[in-house]
Amino acid sequence: MAQTRAAFLHSPEIDRYRYPPDCPFKTERAGMTRRILAGVGLLSGPGRWEVGFQAAPRPVLERFHTARYLDAMQRSAAGDLDVSAFGMGFGQPEAPVFREMYDYAALACGATLRGADLVADGEADVAFNPSGGYHHAGPETAAGFCYVNDVALACLVLAEGFDRVLFLDVDVHHGDGVQDCFYDRADVMTMSFHETGESLFPGTGFPQDVGTGAGRGYSVNVPLPPGTYDAALVRAFEAVAPPLVEAFDPDVIVYEVGADGLAGDPLADLALTNNAYAELARQVAGFGKPVLATGGGGYHPENTARAWALVWSILVGEHQQDTMQVGLGGVMLETTDWQGGLRDRTLVVSAEQRDAVEPAIDRVVEAVRTHVFPLHGL
Ligand SMILES: [Zn+2]
Repeated sequence: MAQTRAAFLHSPEIDRYRYPPDCPFKTERAGMTRRILAGVGLLSGPGRWEVGFQAAPRPVLERFHTARYLDAMQRSAAGDLDVSAFGMGFGQPEAPVFREMYDYAALACGATLRGADLVADGEADVAFNPSGGYHHAGPETAAGFCYVNDVALACLVLAEGFDRVLFLDVDVHHGDGVQDCFYDRADVMTMSFHETGESLFPGTGFPQDVGTGAGRGYSVNVPLPPGTYDAALVRAFEAVAPPLVEAFDPDVIVYEVGADGLAGDPLADLALTNNAYAELARQVAGFGKPVLATGGGGYHPENTARAWALVWSILVGEHQQDTMQVGLGGVMLETTDWQGGLRDRTLVVSAEQRDAVEPAIDRVVEAVRTHVFPLHGL
């Protein structure tokens, strides 16, 4: 197989931005991921490089967001939070206002769109923006720490150059903003694996939500029960994703890898280790399509950064057994936040957990088979 050409999107400039200190969303996860990868030599070498980017210009943002929303974001960032901006979400607990809010959101979006260009132009097989994945933002809504929906914009851009785009989202929260954007379109399939909306924000994303009009069958939702562990997620993924990906046959995949499904994440209730994210990444790479990957949620910063480093290592083809032992000695001299190896220890699954999760997984897989598969002749 040819060498995977992989671009990592990060810069010292984006590393300077921070949400307010009391906000659980930590932008520093991107820089942490970069440091881990640089330490093990996985950012350089044949076919791998780091790429800079510019803020997405306002006319580009207006392809998804309304002018009055972007005006409100700029006004709020400048200290003028009015009733109309508050009504759009600005200043609420999960969309705190900070001075560089607009600049950060536009720059993070610019990174994702640069990655979209690289895969669209055939310059990269894989591009990864750990500062991307703001899937909750709506045309006129800030929500869930998301202001500019970079992934929806990337899908819009990619759908111009390609016939079929798959947005595959494994963040623990439903990718509502992207789904809503493409709900009536057949050229962009959205597929989201997330903790069920019965227990978690944003409360949407059920198997019967399959799209509308021409888009019927092109929104795929796989809600997971609290306590979902690695083998259960992998089983749901394998039952749903490969047949639908084969049927849809996307030209390109936008892959949102929120790591907030990890056990111990303070905002969610799944019980995954990063081995599950690694296995999903392995399967996504195995689809053989160009992949634009982004970060997303992940509220335990160290675990999130390690998961993203592991996912990158797999997407770029370093997925031989225990690859991550490579360079261990050198890394331990340079960092204190990593004791060696990127992989989490496997977690023991209790009989109770299994009894609670397995039937729910069976039900959701069956529901997707019932509601979506027939629309694709499956
Ligand atoms: Zn999330």
